[in-house]
Amino acid sequence: MEGAATIGRVTVRDRLDEIYTIAQHRAGYSAEEDAAHELAARWMRDAGLDVSRDEAGNLFGRRGDARVWAGSHLDSVPTAGRFDGALGVVAAIEAAARLTDLPLAVVAFRAEETGPMGSRRLGELPDAFLEVHIEQGPVLERLGAPLGVVTAIAGQARGTKVFEGRADHAGTTPMDARADALVAAAEFILHVRASAGQGTVATVGAIDVEPNATNVVPERVTVSVDARSADPARLDALIETIGFEPHWRLDPVAMSDAFKRVLPDAPELVSGAGHDAMVLAAAGVPSAMLFVRSLNGGISHHPDELSSTEDIDRAVDVLTDALSRLAQ
Ligand SMILES: [Zn+2]
Repeated sequence: MEGAATIGRVTVRDRLDEIYTIAQHRAGYSAEEDAAHELAARWMRDAGLDVSRDEAGNLFGRRGDARVWAGSHLDSVPTAGRFDGALGVVAAIEAAARLTDLPLAVVAFRAEETGPMGSRRLGELPDAFLEVHIEQGPVLERLGAPLGVVTAIAGQARGTKVFEGRADHAGTTPMDARADALVAAAEFILHVRASAGQGTVATVGAIDVEPNATNVVPERVTVSVDARSADPARLDALIETIGFEPHWRLDPVAMSDAFKRVLPDAPELVSGAGHDAMVLAAAGVPSAMLFVRSLNGGISHHPDELSSTEDIDRAVDVLTDALSRLAQ
């Protein structure tokens, strides 16, 4: 197999640029996402695949009785870079183009960033799923490794905590006579950070202050909590330590060893972010993820998001190998 991830004379990187040119923000089920799907459908046909769509709008490029799928998503966040999602779709099209004799499918799921919505509404499931994705973090860059094998996707628990105080005049109320809801919330936010560490992360990303006025002691504050771990017991312990009631929870899922078999010596990572592969794995499909090194310190959901052409070429080679082993 030649190393360069080229599609004729067009490279994977060229295609990522072409998708980015449609729009930086390709919201789920928007005209911009539609246009990206149209483009990918054309590339699928060029790769000799039969194009179809399901009721959720997910795009498939199939060859034969496709029991093995590879792909990712083409929607993006408003501040997106070029690689998140699109890399997994374009890499899978290139791998499918190389494996001209094998039954397989390339899939572009709808609205991953705002759900995932498309992968949750699949009418049928494959026997195996492979997703190449930019790491979106600094681990591989720090290790000096181009690729990493994902062993598990972290479970998530989300909830809110409400602090009740008493609104008072900011000038006339003595400090020892106040019930300041925001001060209590501030102590809680520091407690959330201190609660996480060993194999866990926890974040307060949103607060709502009432009445949110400069000269009024805060009366009521609502704080969001997002807690994650790849280990269910640790996630339980973290929720307990923080002391909040999750209104939404997703259990961690293990990834299959499909990439591990191709790259036995690659570093192993846990994904802290959710992905379409998480949805398929939770539905019982053996799913595997390959992370491609993020450069620029791992920055993601940002225009500076970057993977090198060499690393992408390696990822396409590994994906091609893993797909051919599964689809034989
Ligand atoms: Zn993504």
